[in-house]
Amino acid sequence: MSISHIEHIGIAVKDLEESIRFYEDKLGLKCYSIEEVEEQKVKTAFFMVGQTKVELLESTDPEGPIGKFIEKKGEGVHHIAFAVDNIEESLKDLTEKEVRLIDKSPRKGAEGLDIAFLHPKSTHGVLMELCQNKNK
Ligand code: ZN
Repeated sequence: MSISHIEHIGIAVKDLEESIRFYEDKLGLKCYSIEEVEEQKVKTAFFMVGQTKVELLESTDPEGPIGKFIEKKGEGVHHIAFAVDNIEESLKDLTEKEVRLIDKSPRKGAEGLDIAFLHPKSTHGVLMELCQNKNK
């Protein structure tokens, strides 16, 4: 597999509007997109920082993955996303290397990216996401 860069860092927040104000007013970043990903039960806000994005995630359902994360751990860094050239190949490669996957095949994430998560139990504690932008 081939990772080109960190595509984004996902951060779980309780209140998206309030968090956007922090990133804009205090950090001077500009939110360029707000999107709801129904399947993931989240509302997301994106900021560009160089070639890496910050993705803020607010849960739309306490039973969703971000809702549960916040209940257990509170707000904070949720996942790190690596951009890969070929997500299917990467997942196949990792399966052969006996890395535990949450998503055995890619699905659609925010911004129309193809995404898949690796299980934190086999990545030394970090929830990792692979993503490939097939639109470019
Ligand atoms: Zn993500």
